[in-house]
Amino acid sequence: NVRVRFAPSPTGPLHIGGVRTALFNYLFAKKHNGTFILRIEDTDQNRYVEGAEDYIVESLNWCNIPYDEGPGKDGGHGPYRQSERKDRYKKYALQLIENGAAYYAFDTAEELADARTTAEANKETFIYNHHNRLQFKNSLTLAESEVQERIDRGDDYVIRFKPEIKTLFMFDEIRKGIEIDTSLLDDKVLFKSDGMPTYHLANIVDDHEMEISHVIRGEEWLPSMALHVLLYESLKWEAPKFAHLPLILKPTGKGKLSKRDGDKMGFPVFPLEWNPENGEKSSGYREDGYLPEAVVNMLAFLGWNPGTEQEIFSLEELVQAFSLEHVNNSGAKFDPEKTKWFQQQWFVQQDDAVVGDAFAKALQSKNIEYGSQDYVNIVVGLVKERAVFVEDLFELAGFFFVAPKEFDEKAASKSWKDDTSAIMKNVIEVINNTDDDSAVGLSDAVKGWIKEQEMGFGKVMMPLRLSLVGSLMGPDVFEIASLIGKQETVSRISNAIE
Ligand code: GLU
Repeated sequence: NVRVRFAPSPTGPLHIGGVRTALFNYLFAKKHNGTFILRIEDTDQNRYVEGAEDYIVESLNWCNIPYDEGPGKDGGHGPYRQSERKDRYKKYALQLIENGAAYYAFDTAEELADARTTAEANKETFIYNHHNRLQFKNSLTLAESEVQERIDRGDDYVIRFKPEIKTLFMFDEIRKGIEIDTSLLDDKVLFKSDGMPTYHLANIVDDHEMEISHVIRGEEWLPSMALHVLLYESLKWEAPKFAHLPLILKPTGKGKLSKRDGDKMGFPVFPLEWNPENGEKSSGYREDGYLPEAVVNMLAFLGWNPGTEQEIFSLEELVQAFSLEHVNNSGAKFDPEKTKWFQQQWFVQQDDAVVGDAFAKALQSKNIEYGSQDYVNIVVGLVKERAVFVEDLFELAGFFFVAPKEFDEKAASKSWKDDTSAIMKNVIEVINNTDDDSAVGLSDAVKGWIKEQEMGFGKVMMPLRLSLVGSLMGPDVFEIASLIGKQETVSRISNAIE
């Protein structure tokens, strides 16, 4: 029974690395007919950011990877916010003390700061562990009665883990066997003086209580794996399987992609725009015009490959193809150009009507009249191949809606010669005298006339295009003429003549 969870802390917008983690959890769950759970890890109230949870949920929904269980979707293992589970953790901390795997520590902040300063003076980094724990005020060094007395009178204390010293053999589904000398671990705080568990304790308690079968998370959590495995052992719980996903690296390959890399380097690192009331705005893939299919496809390839040449995958295809065996263990370089490529592939695959609908909305928002939806859809069909974003359609197809106000200078000097105005007056005549205003009809009429005149085609076709489009680009010129209509065509040519 596969149960996996995505467990973000609501400390700000979800980074695309986080979305990648969510996606791999989702794919793994769906592949195995399992359950994908969202758990909000908000035990650290100091880092809590308003709006972050909503942002996370909205991001998952936009990517079409909604959770099965989580806030607002009870699956019998809730609540799904750690702040609402507060009361559950202490009993396990006490159980660990009872099992000899944890102890109370009463050291004050000043005492710990002193110890740190002394260590630094000796050019050492201070860690609280088996080497020095007996020098501190804790339940390993104080008499039992004093421990009780201190607790009873309300002294601040934390509960620290006391790792069993041994060689620990662990297995990661991606990295395979890992061997750790646990004497290198420190006595991590599991329970804080403010009555809240730390991430480590809350995380394993919830994974256990929520019956998580596989913990799939970013590589930055690999160093915590030994502690987590020891905690499961000490509580006599069966540990879930672990899979640590490779880091996502900057496009240069140097260092981890960070939340600050995005806008500075010219691409978003967030799925959705983040625009806090009193903070800096960051761009997002959705607002930048990307399709969720493209973003998901790109993210899937950050650390995973299908083992074939296929690159374009729908979500359903990803579910079918996904396996942890094909997740790499080396860092995955983030490539904004490749992301654009995925976007382009997905963009052209869409139905004309779907793109047309989006383009019509965009036209409307710029107060550009577009006639009918059918008209927009036909236009889209003519230029879609060359677009990557809806926004590109303004440049590729704007002239279908608005007559050119100016003419591209280079194109004009290339196509508009001394005799062009006279020729184009005749072309107007030809067009006016044509009954068939389909693209073929107009083409036959104009081309027939050119032949009659024994003129070079370019002498008419280039200025005609310039008149209708404003430049020398665009689809077939008679398609354009037919779509904008005879009247508009003639009016644009007259304009150009002036
Ligand atoms: N709350 C942790 C985070 O923000 C979860 C790590 C884990 O998945 O265990 O990434």
